[in-house]
Amino acid sequence: MTQTVVPAAVASVYVDRLQRAQGEMARQNVDLLVVGASADLFYLIGYAGHLSERMSVLLLPREGTPHYVVPGLEAALLSDQRDLLEIVSWEETEDPAAKVAAIAGAASEGTVAVSDELWTVFTIRMQRLMPGARWSEGGQLLRPLRMIKDDREIALLAEASRLTDETWEEFLATSVIGVTERQVRERLMGMIAARGLTPTFANVGSGPNGASPHQSASDRVIGPGDAIVCDWGGTLAGYHSDVTRTAHVGDPSAEFVAAYEAVLAANQAALDAVRPGAACQDIDRAARGVLTAAGFGEAFFHRTGHGLGLSVHEEPYLVEGNTLPLAAGMVFSDEPGVYFPDRFGIRIEDTVLCTETGGRRLNEATRALTVMS
Ligand code: ZN
Ligand code: ZN
Ligand code: ZN
Repeated sequence: MTQTVVPAAVASVYVDRLQRAQGEMARQNVDLLVVGASADLFYLIGYAGHLSERMSVLLLPREGTPHYVVPGLEAALLSDQRDLLEIVSWEETEDPAAKVAAIAGAASEGTVAVSDELWTVFTIRMQRLMPGARWSEGGQLLRPLRMIKDDREIALLAEASRLTDETWEEFLATSVIGVTERQVRERLMGMIAARGLTPTFANVGSGPNGASPHQSASDRVIGPGDAIVCDWGGTLAGYHSDVTRTAHVGDPSAEFVAAYEAVLAANQAALDAVRPGAACQDIDRAARGVLTAAGFGEAFFHRTGHGLGLSVHEEPYLVEGNTLPLAAGMVFSDEPGVYFPDRFGIRIEDTVLCTETGGRRLNEATRALTVMS
């Protein structure tokens, strides 16, 4: 008997996803979809691909058998995908783009979609060999599929979130005075790894650095009077957690407490606005309305949330102008924040699942204002 890493029940998931992608291709009149190493690829076939200068792509025709064009030396990595697709390997002296064009056949005179994260250089090489094709964005085909999570995906996202919540409880019991942001990052990522998640990021902004939402972590030493914005997460079987909490070192000022309470209320208002059929922008408006009414409208200058799943940022985006209706099975962040340049920042971020009856938080790490020492 052969050993297989992908259980049969999971393998059937990929058969189903490939068929649904083909259904979307029929609806959108696309003849061939080319998917490079990415979360899209992992979503479709359970293999994330090896991203390098050697072209490695899935070719999904509108009807019929998917092919995978792989460097010969990586073909063995696809042993679990043999039942899903036909593997075409290329040797070091061959041109993989020519293999793609040959497999494409008549589709090279039709519409060819490329996945969002396919390297531009691969697209240019295919375009040279398939001059009659019309090129389009593969994201438009895969977005409707990836946005709605199935039960297994929801379970993995919930478990990744739960384990990340545990790291916050553990972190709050530590001391941060005299510690650098970088050391806090190492601490959080170590706690993530200790729980079996693959740490993916930990952005730590203390004091004035917290006023920059994508601050990564510097050698700044944390001291009394600092707020610390921690935004971190990891993956479980490819599925991301993404949580932000803001703690205060020593007693906070009345001004800080007022801003914190406004952000917390905005986070709650966004959650309360979640229901199937609500437009993405309505969730953003709910959070923004609270902060604007509290006088912090200008201090909240980013969207309220982003979808997450196999990517840490994916559709749907909770932003003004996005009228896409929410649907049960969508998972996204709820992360209002306020930022005061040269002073401090505050953000509170949870992952939220849209259910038939409304929003359900996947994160339950305390949102109460916590004072650290
Ligand atoms: Zn972000
Ligand atoms: Zn985050
Ligand atoms: Zn986020």
